Amino acid sequence: MTGLVYKSTGSWYTVSTELGAIYQCRIKGKFRIKGIKSTNPIAVGDVVDFELETNNDETTGVIHKIHDRKNYIVRKSVNLSKQTHVIASNIDLVFLLITIDNPPTFTSFIDRFLVTAEAYSIKTVLLFNKVDTYSDDTLDEVKYLAHVYRKIGYECIGISAATGKNIDKVKTLMTNKVSMFAGHSGVGKSTLVNAIEPNLDLKTKAISTQHMQGQHTTTFAEMFDIGFAKIIDTPGIKGFGIVDMDKEEVSDYFPEFFELKQDCKFNNCLHIEEPKCAVKEALDKDEISYSRYRSYVQILEGEDEHYRTDNWNA
Ligand code: GDP
Ligand code: ZN
Repeated sequence: MTGLVYKSTGSWYTVSTELGAIYQCRIKGKFRIKGIKSTNPIAVGDVVDFELETNNDETTGVIHKIHDRKNYIVRKSVNLSKQTHVIASNIDLVFLLITIDNPPTFTSFIDRFLVTAEAYSIKTVLLFNKVDTYSDDTLDEVKYLAHVYRKIGYECIGISAATGKNIDKVKTLMTNKVSMFAGHSGVGKSTLVNAIEPNLDLKTKAISTQHMQGQHTTTFAEMFDIGFAKIIDTPGIKGFGIVDMDKEEVSDYFPEFFELKQDCKFNNCLHIEEPKCAVKEALDKDEISYSRYRSYVQILEGEDEHYRTDNWNA
């Protein structure tokens, strides 16, 4: 049988078949996934093959195969610094909620987030929330940022989780997909999910504030089926541990640099001080955004550790 992992408690996995039958499954023996050193072999979002087993009238499943992942997100393991914990896999879409104020979301945060998402091959849509509260000047800022990010290929939508503005557009994007919601604490993730599906009470907030102080507490992601879509809730997840990147690699995750950098004089150009750099020339001509370039330099220099996109829900 084949099924989708909705929940994991460490040793047991809740798996749903395509027909909606739900089984508690465990793993047979040990298996490792190529290329990932993780503390957990199976994560929410995984597609697995399993066989049923009946003991004392109780039917459970034994997982013997995991299908290839399209993508996955990790955080560093609390105890074993070299190891990672896979939070979730096979994510179709991440909605990054942004507010201009209350709380402010800085472009350095957005850009780090997008770099991580690109590195993990996860499509991101930017949602500018609380548009009902903004002055004309702030709305202009939303328009400007939306322009910057649309130009480089990210879909941007101005929404209000409170009034319902453009929530239908978010729902359309979510249809038949597995989505996640991210953004600083207070940007409106819970309010938005509640506007999308009032019966679903995500635990994101409660758990992140209560349990995460406990050093060794592990919180688990969980997938929810709301009929037309699936949502992965990641309670208290702070560390998406951007896997150490080579300096040369960072520009791969800035889509607007992609074509330009083929014209740099040096093929190992980092677009900082090098002569005849096509990226810097484009910057001088205002063809790429200065704030994006500044974020690129910050990431390259690793000088803003505290802005790391580890804080997906911080
Ligand atoms: P979370 O921490 O990201 O889950 O944020 P919440 O959903 O708890 O929202 C934080 C606060 O912002 C709450 O007081 C919400 O009522 C408020 N809020 C969320 N979205 C909107 C919105 O679109 N407009 C307005 N005016 N308030 C909002
Ligand atoms: Zn260059």
